Amino acid sequence: MGIFNKLGRQAEQFKQKAKEAAEEHADAEEKIDYQCQNCDAQFQTEYDECPECGAQEITSRPPTN
Ligand SMILES: [Zn+2]
Repeated sequence: MGIFNKLGRQAEQFKQKAKEAAEEHADAEEKIDYQCQNCDAQFQTEYDECPECGAQEITSRPPTN
């Protein structure tokens, strides 16, 4: 009976991928998750150092939903 689980999982993965792709396009401009406390640069990727000023004061912001 594993076939049903397998198909279900593939469907879930496909939905997840589609959702991620859609979110990347839809929210690319708005979704800011990280911000440099030194220069206020904002990123969607976590950096150890700010690519703008090199400060290591990057804070992350929790998702709004
Ligand atoms: Zn900075």
